Amino acid sequence: MHNIFKTNESPIIIAGPCSVESLSQMRQVIQALPHNEVAWIRGGIWKPRTRPGGFEGKGKEALQWISDLKREFPALRFCTEVAQPEHVELCLQHGVDAVWIGSRTTGNPFSVGEICNALQNTHLPVLVKNPMTPDINLWIGAIERVSKAGIESVAAVHRGFSLYNNLGYRNNPLWEVPIELKRQLPDLPLLCDPSHIGGKRELLHQLMQTAMDLHFDGLMIEVHPSPDSALTDADQQLTPEDFFAILKKLSFRKDSESTPFELKHLREQIDLIDAQLIHLLSERLETSKKIAEVKGQNNMAVYQPKRWEEVLERKLALAQEHGIDPSFVKDLYEKIHAESVKVQLSKD
Ligand code: PEP
Ligand code: MN
Repeated sequence: MHNIFKTNESPIIIAGPCSVESLSQMRQVIQALPHNEVAWIRGGIWKPRTRPGGFEGKGKEALQWISDLKREFPALRFCTEVAQPEHVELCLQHGVDAVWIGSRTTGNPFSVGEICNALQNTHLPVLVKNPMTPDINLWIGAIERVSKAGIESVAAVHRGFSLYNNLGYRNNPLWEVPIELKRQLPDLPLLCDPSHIGGKRELLHQLMQTAMDLHFDGLMIEVHPSPDSALTDADQQLTPEDFFAILKKLSFRKDSESTPFELKHLREQIDLIDAQLIHLLSERLETSKKIAEVKGQNNMAVYQPKRWEEVLERKLALAQEHGIDPSFVKDLYEKIHAESVKVQLSKD
């Protein structure tokens, strides 16, 4: 069976408000969006709030508005978040075209299991957002559970991760995680939700372009007729006009059939440099083992905080000299140092 989220041509675009707030809000947004480019409308009907006391969605009332709007706009395809089996049942009763499993739910296999029981034999298309933590197996596990429920149209949505350091984003994009997901599941459509990554509308253009440059299959973006008065996620929602303006500026890069000679040459160079890096790393680890022996003979602890501080400081200065982002070098050296300590501890 065909996966409706898979398109060979232009990326699939899902747009609409964070929350469905009223019939007129939804009508306004649907009328304002460019229908030839936006295949799907989104809108949260049940809102999972991190803290109690906020707007939790309009629930059943909103489903009736969606049924009415689908009669008014027959081409409309609507999707919303489900977190409980009864949400799935209500969506099916009201003709919702697809559902997504939200980030807070994906991380809980029991909840995903219950939703999947309700999805069994329904053929309702499902989008699976990444869990809040960068645990790729929890994400893949939820996707597998949905597929096992007999759902053919499944896609993943990258919405960033909630970390201690989110680098100025609402959720840290950690692009390497969706890239690894795509490597492990190359046939699964992968969409990006830049709104929940950015958290601020100023960041959206750049995030959307990055997603396109990384070959995502589509975008899910929050668009609201008057974002500043939105009941949820006011800072990150775009007006339909701003959204359309960004969409027009995006460049959708295509893979050409044949690789240009210059690119081939540069890739060979990269492969060569990588081989050298691995060789150097192995030499560094061998030297580490020798250091462990000397430390052992002299009854010294493996981890020497002062020495580590000096090593790191020197590397950061070198990074600066070479025009490399010091925070990248810091991350890299923390990994290298951790491996070195591990090797030294397991020496005997
Ligand atoms: C949403 O899309 O409105 C939402 C709550 O998303 P997430 O699960 O990614 O936080
Ligand atoms: Mn939102």
